[in-house]
Amino acid sequence: MSNTDVERPEWLDEPCPNWCHGDHSGQDFREDRKHLCEQVLVPVITQGRAPGWRHIPGDVVEAEEMSIAIYRRVGERETWLVIANDRQNVEVSLESAGRLSDELAELIQEVTASQA
Ligand SMILES: [Zn+2]
Repeated sequence: MSNTDVERPEWLDEPCPNWCHGDHSGQDFREDRKHLCEQVLVPVITQGRAPGWRHIPGDVVEAEEMSIAIYRRVGERETWLVIANDRQNVEVSLESAGRLSDELAELIQEVTASQA
């Protein structure tokens, strides 16, 4: 779906960034108005929450999904990245996400190389 497929609401007085999916319906309230990319769902293995009585943190391993999305509020300059599901979330500026991504890549490379 390209940005031109969806009718633009009257309040949207700025162009969509090229990564915005362009659907601004359901954003009648000012605080809901944002440019949003298509969300990406990533399967992940996480440490679940063991029942309190077990007292062993990280004892439960679970498969779930986390979504990655980028958004920018209409009229604002900062772009944000969210990695989230209903149990946890990370929300940082796009610039911070770049730093995290670089450090993560380096750290993962270092750890996996030493395990070989
Ligand atoms: Zn948009």
